Amino acid sequence: MTERPGAPLLALLLAGWMALPSVAFAVAERPSVVVVLMDTTRADRFHSWGNEHETTPVLDRLAAEGVQFRRHYANSHATRPSLPQIVSGRYFHPSILRPFEPDSHPRDYPFLEPDPNARLLTDLVRQADYELLGVSAHPWVDPSSVMGRAFHRLEYVEAPAKRGHAEAGEVVDHAIALWDQRTVDRPTFLYVHLLDAHTPRWLPQKNPRFLPPDTAWRDRFRTSGEPRFGGERRRWEFTDARDFSEEDRAIYRAFYDTLLRNADQELGRLLDRLRRDDPGLAHTLVVVLADHGEQLGEEGGLKHGDSLVDGVQHTPLIMAGAGIVPGQRVDTFTENVDVTPTLAALLQLPVAPGTFDGRSLIDLDGRAIVPRDPRPAVYYAWSDYQAVRTRRWLLRVDPPGSPQARCHGGETTLWRLGPNGERTLVHDERRVQSLRKKLERRLTHGAARLEEGLRHQPPEPFFVPVQYWTIADTAPITCVPIDGGVRRDDLGTPGWLLVRDGLVVVEGDAKPLAVTVTVPDGAYEVAAGVRPLGWLWRVPGMFERADSALHDEQAATFVPLGDHQAVGRRLQVSVPPQIAASQRIVNLRLTPRGAGPKNAPTVDREHEERLRTLGYVE
Ligand SMILES: [Zn+2]
Repeated sequence: MTERPGAPLLALLLAGWMALPSVAFAVAERPSVVVVLMDTTRADRFHSWGNEHETTPVLDRLAAEGVQFRRHYANSHATRPSLPQIVSGRYFHPSILRPFEPDSHPRDYPFLEPDPNARLLTDLVRQADYELLGVSAHPWVDPSSVMGRAFHRLEYVEAPAKRGHAEAGEVVDHAIALWDQRTVDRPTFLYVHLLDAHTPRWLPQKNPRFLPPDTAWRDRFRTSGEPRFGGERRRWEFTDARDFSEEDRAIYRAFYDTLLRNADQELGRLLDRLRRDDPGLAHTLVVVLADHGEQLGEEGGLKHGDSLVDGVQHTPLIMAGAGIVPGQRVDTFTENVDVTPTLAALLQLPVAPGTFDGRSLIDLDGRAIVPRDPRPAVYYAWSDYQAVRTRRWLLRVDPPGSPQARCHGGETTLWRLGPNGERTLVHDERRVQSLRKKLERRLTHGAARLEEGLRHQPPEPFFVPVQYWTIADTAPITCVPIDGGVRRDDLGTPGWLLVRDGLVVVEGDAKPLAVTVTVPDGAYEVAAGVRPLGWLWRVPGMFERADSALHDEQAATFVPLGDHQAVGRRLQVSVPPQIAASQRIVNLRLTPRGAGPKNAPTVDREHEERLRTLGYVE
């Protein structure tokens, strides 16, 4: 009943053809599309990408049936920036996910309007009369989100808050049920978002696979995959793995590989189901990708911070079925912003030139285009940083005047890359300048286009966290990393200190800080959001007593800084040092003229609890 007319014949033809890969082949017209997004999945843990362990037999087979893009990169390090990039095919696009703090963080502002010429993949396939079905283990991908609104049916598979996310088995059950219920006389777009590789990584069996038999992993790790040791260190910086031994890293990787193997096996059930209707996948285009990878202890880091290591940025991309020529392996650079342009080309969706920053990777003859037209670099774009990676170099540029630029010792950081992505910090000003020009050519236009979305003042107050401030270059600020190793002297430095994304003045007579924020034009009543510090936090070993003062990003009270006018999307304000004495400044609250009161960013508490388990909030 669900079989497409002609599918068995085409399957026979495809099976015969597969022995003769040089025969030209046209991509199927209006195929169904199945997009599997494997959150937090790095390419090199796939067996076919070089992992010695047999982690991915199902997906390796799928890769052999289509194109495996072996040097594919995500355009940012986390879900929130990455999914808009994938779905819009642009480096810069406002958030399309369920808001977390809808009145805080630039890209999450609900009043940030998308560029009118941008097109989301989900909207494009809906306009092409596809039936959009989706299932997601990620709490940010739900029917209330901009991305979710295009779906005819999108199911969020909820898990108990302490487990963090549903497992591949449950998600695939939903996906198969949706597939079974699809409208058969219409092409289907099925989106499947797995979260298995994301922490917490609960084991599906008793023991992690891929470890020597007698490894005493339980002494070191919990069944959620989290280390039993170094809790205090990671409470301050959740990505800190400088205390991992070689064996700890092997165990941590084994948890990851076990979950990957499990997801691979479950996806096998979905692919089997698709092949029951369409044995050669002649009418079904399957795309497997990730929004970012995961750091598994290399360079002393964990999870997916903005470190730009290969493990976080190098992700899988597989496209197979619907007439794509099997057995293609592409070794030139490709990026997540290329995925939507590729689908738009293959599905022949009407899109105006210049809509995407990415480009199509596959021709209508089913062959990869990129080897004939290689790109020399991939790019990263987020509010906090921009970066460019070539085969030999990686340059990160922090926004001028940003707190990060201060803490990184300047706006630019340059690494030389080894053959396996390993990197070494280098100083080479000429190289920095040439890479920076390359980056500006590629990203400046998109960044400006995003900022143009700040057109209208919102009806309500909103918040600008310190990390998104621009501080005049003349202001001296000392960055003090707070962890178990902080020295009392560091905290006695006179003047402004940047402490965990907040500003403090401990000693000395600091000058007022000249701060600029990027907001819609208009008049605002400005206030600084602060949290009291007390004195205990300055005593090494007593940090836990100052926990909420240092961990919490939300203001307890607001200090008025007067009325200010934003012109040309820039608002300038002078922050006096007195308010940062024994208090930590965490944000600015901007109240448009005539708006009602608001004391903190809006947060959904139940949603927050789930996000805490996933490590998104402290
Ligand atoms: Zn993610």
